[in-house]
Amino acid sequence: MQEQFNDDANVATLPRHDATTLLRRVFGYNAFRSQQQAIVEHLADGGDALVLMPTGGGKSLCYQIPSLLREGTGVVVSPLIALMQDQVEALLQLGVRAAYLNSTLDAGQARQVERDLLDGNLDLLYVAPERLLTARFMDLLDRSRIALFAIDEAHCVSQWGHDFRPEYRELTVLHERWPQVPRIALTATADPPTQREIAERLALEQARHFVSSFDRPNIRYSVAHKDNPRRQLLDFLAGHAGESGIVYCLSRRKVEETADFLAGRGVAALPYHAGLPAQVRADNQRRFLREDGIVMCATIAFGMGIDKPDVRFVAHMDLPKSIEGYYQETGRAGRDGEPAEAWMGYGLGDVVLLRQMIEQGEAGEERKRLERRKLDQLLGYCETAGCRRQALLAAFGETYAAPGAGSGCGNCDNCLHPVRTWDATEAARKALSCVYRTGQRFGASHVIEVLRGADTEKVRQFRHHELSTYGIGTDLDTSAWRSVFRQLVVAGLLEVDTEGHGGLRLAATARPVLGGEQAVHLREEPARKPGRGSGGERRSESTLHVDSGDRALFDGLRAWRAQLAREQNVPAYVIFHDRTLRDIAQLRPASLGELARVGGIGGGKLGRYGEAVLEIVREQG
Ligand code: ADP
Ligand code: ZN
Repeated sequence: MQEQFNDDANVATLPRHDATTLLRRVFGYNAFRSQQQAIVEHLADGGDALVLMPTGGGKSLCYQIPSLLREGTGVVVSPLIALMQDQVEALLQLGVRAAYLNSTLDAGQARQVERDLLDGNLDLLYVAPERLLTARFMDLLDRSRIALFAIDEAHCVSQWGHDFRPEYRELTVLHERWPQVPRIALTATADPPTQREIAERLALEQARHFVSSFDRPNIRYSVAHKDNPRRQLLDFLAGHAGESGIVYCLSRRKVEETADFLAGRGVAALPYHAGLPAQVRADNQRRFLREDGIVMCATIAFGMGIDKPDVRFVAHMDLPKSIEGYYQETGRAGRDGEPAEAWMGYGLGDVVLLRQMIEQGEAGEERKRLERRKLDQLLGYCETAGCRRQALLAAFGETYAAPGAGSGCGNCDNCLHPVRTWDATEAARKALSCVYRTGQRFGASHVIEVLRGADTEKVRQFRHHELSTYGIGTDLDTSAWRSVFRQLVVAGLLEVDTEGHGGLRLAATARPVLGGEQAVHLREEPARKPGRGSGGERRSESTLHVDSGDRALFDGLRAWRAQLAREQNVPAYVIFHDRTLRDIAQLRPASLGELARVGGIGGGKLGRYGEAVLEIVREQG
C-alpha cells in the first residue's frame, strides 16, 4: 500500500484498477455519491449518457474516472476558459495528466498539447467548442486515441436558455464522425423541456439518462421583504464574516454602488459586470477565485463556470428573472456540500420594474407570455407560506420528499419560522378603494401616503386630502402597507400600468373584494429584530464547523495553504478544500498512512504535500 504514495505518484503508473480504486487512490474519496458509480461504469463500458445533476453534485468525476479507465484521452468540451483552467489545475494536483486547448495558449504551447495528445500522454483534454469544431482539431482527433467525449454545460445547446452557444448545436458531428466513442452530456440546469431539447439536439435520445434529484440540502433558502435593503444586506453579511460569497444586483450601477457601500463598511467587496473593462473583470474574478473571503457584487454576467467550491452565500438584492435563473445563481453556493445560504430581498418595486421590463421589451407576444408566466412562477415562490425547497423543486417537475416526519425541509425560512397569515380583507378593500379614488394612475407610495393621511406636496396638489379614503389607513405603518400592495399586485388584484410610471389600477378580479364578497388573506411579514439577519440565531450553522480546540491548527493549515497557492498561482481550494483541512485538524494524523484516510487526499496530494502537512501538525497541533 505504502509504495503507492511515493513522490511521483502519477495516474499513469497506477495499475488500471476498477473505478472505486481510482476514486480512492487518485481523488482521495471513499465512496461514490448517488449515481456517480452507475454513470462511471456505464461510460467505462462504452455507453452514452445524459447526466442531470445539481451543481456540486459531482459531475466532473463522472467523466474523469471513465477517462482514466478507458484507453486514450477523454476530450471534454467546456464553454468557459476560467473553468477549464481550474479543472486542469486541480487534476494536475492529483497527478492526472490533463491539459487544455484554448485561446489563452500561444502557438508553441498549443503545439505541445497537440503532441501530447497524439503521443497518448494525456488522460484528459479540455477544449472550447469553437476550437473543437475546427478542421485542424478534427484531424488531430482522427489521429489520436479518444477515450470518450464529455459535453459539459450541455444546456448551452438550448436556444431558450440564457447560456445559448450556437457551436453546441454542431456537436452532433462527434457522434457522426466517431460513432464508437462514448459520449456523456452533463448539465445542472434542466427543466423537463430543456432536458428533451438537449437529448434531441445532441442526438442522445438513445443514451441512458441519469437524472438526480435537484435538491441542494445544504443550501438554506430565505426571502425577505425588502424595507431597508442595505441594512438588511449588512445584517446578512454579518453572519458570513470572512467568507466568500456573491451579491447579485440587477443593474450595473447598482453593482458598483453596492460594492462601494460594502467596501466603505470594511467588507472585501469587488464589482463585476459586463460594462467594466475586460482587465478589471478578469482581475476581480481572479481575486474572487484565489483569495479567501471576497464578496463579489455582480450582475448575472458573473457566475457561469465559477466552480469555486467554497462560496458560502449568494444574496439577491433584486428579483432574478426566473426560477431557473435563481436556482442556477444560488446553486453556486455550497458546491463543497458544506452549509451555505441563499438570501433574497424582494419588494413591490421589483415586481413593478420586472413587469414593466417585460411589457416594454421588444419581444414578440409569444415570448412575452412566456416571460410573464416565468415571473409569476417566481413571485409565487417569493410569496409562498410553504416550504421554499418544495416550491423550487416543483418548478423543475420534482416532488420533494421531506426527510423526517414533517412536511417541510427544515432548512428554509418558512420551515424554520412558519409564516402566519392574517385576514387582510379590510385592508385590501381600503387599498383598492384608495387606488380607485385617486384615479388609478399613482404608484403605491403615493396611495399609501393618502391612506396614512400624510400631508405632502403631492397630496395637496391633487387635493387628495379631500378624498373619503384620506387617512383611513393609520392602523398600518408604511412598511405593512407596502407588503399589502405587493401581495395585491402579485395576486393579480392590482395591475401595474406598464407604459406609464408604474401606476396601479384595479383588475377585474378586484370587484368582489371591493364589494365585500371575497375575503383576502395575506402573509404576515416576520418582524425583523434589529441587528438580526434572515438567518437569525441559527446563522452560525452556515459556516464550516470547526471545533474550537482545532481552530488554531486549522488556521495554521489555511495560512500554509494560502502561501502555497500564491507560490503556485492556483486557487487555494485546488490544493485542499476547507473541509479537508478541518478534518486534518481534527484527526491530527501522525503518519502518511493516517493522513491518507482524510477525505480529499489521494496519492498525488499525499506525495506532494503529505510531509509538509505532517510537519505542521507536529509543530502546531
Ligand atoms: P459539479 O460539476 O456537479 O457542480 P463537481 O464535480 O465540481 O460538481 O464536484 C463538487 C465537489 O464535490 C467537488 O469538490 C468534488 O471534489 C466533490 N466530490 C465529487 N464527488 C465526490 C465523492 N464521491 N466524494 C466526495 N466528494 C466528492
Ligand atoms: Zn423548507
